[in-house]
Amino acid sequence: MIRTRAAISPTGYPHIGTIYQVLFDYAFAHKHKGKFIVRIEDTDKERTVADAEEKVFKALDWFKLVEDESVRKTGPYGPYRQSDRLDIYKKYAQELINKNKAYYCFCSKDRLDEIRQKLQKEGKPPMYDKHCLNLDKKTIDQKLTNKESYIIRLYVPKDIKIKIKDELRGEVIFDSNSVDDQVLLKSDGYPTYFLAVVVDDHLMEISHMVRGEEWLTSSAKIVLLYEYFGWEKPVFVHTPIIRNPDRSKFSKRQGHTNVSWYQEQGFFPEVILNYLALMGWSHPQGKEIFTLDEFIKLFDFKDISPVGPVFDLNKLEWMNGVHIRESQDSNLKTQIYNFYQKKYPVELIEKTIPLIKERIKKLSDYLPLCEFFFKPIHDLSLIKDRSYIKEIHKELEKVSDWKADIIGESMQALVKKLNVKTGEFFMTLRVAITGKKISPPLNKSMEILGKEECLKRLGQLG
Ligand code: GLU
Ligand code: ZN
Repeated sequence: MIRTRAAISPTGYPHIGTIYQVLFDYAFAHKHKGKFIVRIEDTDKERTVADAEEKVFKALDWFKLVEDESVRKTGPYGPYRQSDRLDIYKKYAQELINKNKAYYCFCSKDRLDEIRQKLQKEGKPPMYDKHCLNLDKKTIDQKLTNKESYIIRLYVPKDIKIKIKDELRGEVIFDSNSVDDQVLLKSDGYPTYFLAVVVDDHLMEISHMVRGEEWLTSSAKIVLLYEYFGWEKPVFVHTPIIRNPDRSKFSKRQGHTNVSWYQEQGFFPEVILNYLALMGWSHPQGKEIFTLDEFIKLFDFKDISPVGPVFDLNKLEWMNGVHIRESQDSNLKTQIYNFYQKKYPVELIEKTIPLIKERIKKLSDYLPLCEFFFKPIHDLSLIKDRSYIKEIHKELEKVSDWKADIIGESMQALVKKLNVKTGEFFMTLRVAITGKKISPPLNKSMEILGKEECLKRLGQLG
């Protein structure tokens, strides 16, 4: 049975990078009729953000990447929240101690700081000096009886090679001398990521451990733990990190990383997924636009390129625009109506769709272009010459069949009669009606607005 999981730390709001991971987990599980699990990794109490978990699930719902098992959809492998599993980790930490594969460490914070500073001064990576590895049993028992504070560390042997097989990169080899005796259990009884992830992935029967490339170096410790426990390892897949166009790591500082930004801008979740799927993977027929179902059918981990794909917002916008153009008018109308919290009359939105469908790339582009349909916008500073607004008003009053082409003809005739510059005249008219120098096609907009409303707007200016 294929079982994948997203191991979500509720330390921040949902990130596009998380969705990128989830997409692979979800697609792979669905392709093989397996299960996709969401586990909440809340072992870092200080960094936990109160509503992050809720937002993560909301984001999964928005993308329709809904899990099979989680804290909100419980299954046979629960609990799915790590803080509800503390006894389990304690038991397994103890098992490692009994096997001499982990050890108690009673070092004070001051001592650990000292070691770290010393190594830092020497330009070496901070590593524990294995001081407590050789404490004799009597000393340990005494300290435990005295309730001295302790942590439990992983025993990493010197001078061995630790190998992992990554689906995308093949064999990766680590030198154990550069692997720290990692803390597994903290003094407050909480596990660290390393112990918890191995225990949980094993107990939850995860078949594929899919995580970001930034976790690759932690694999040595993960592999040691699997071997110490004598458990079968999952398939390791380290997906490439998304990059900014300048190839730096995709981060808040440079780009829009939070899912909420894409929601606020009016991107479509299916388009974002399509775009993410294209990053690092290509469709066998070179197609750029495809559905999630199509991706699920065709996708395989081994086709992902391990080189960090660049997140190109312009391309995503383009794809979103294509999606809008290919949408049914009635669908798009509803999308816009809902996007603006049903604030604007849906019948009027419907009429404007043919005018703007080719012009907007995301739903938030709609209002700047169309706000004038819902209320008059007057910007006198944009009108150079108001002298002929009265004339326009008079002329339009005479138009009885209020249709775009007839409005257009009557205005052309007026330009001739007044002997004014065509460009300037229509700019004045456009600004008078729409409040802007750039708008959807003017005659058609006036038809939609209606004669009465147009005359009213002109009257307010003339
Ligand atoms: N809990 C880690 C995180 O949220 C995920 C690492 C993993 O997938 O194992 O970044
Ligand atoms: Zn120690």
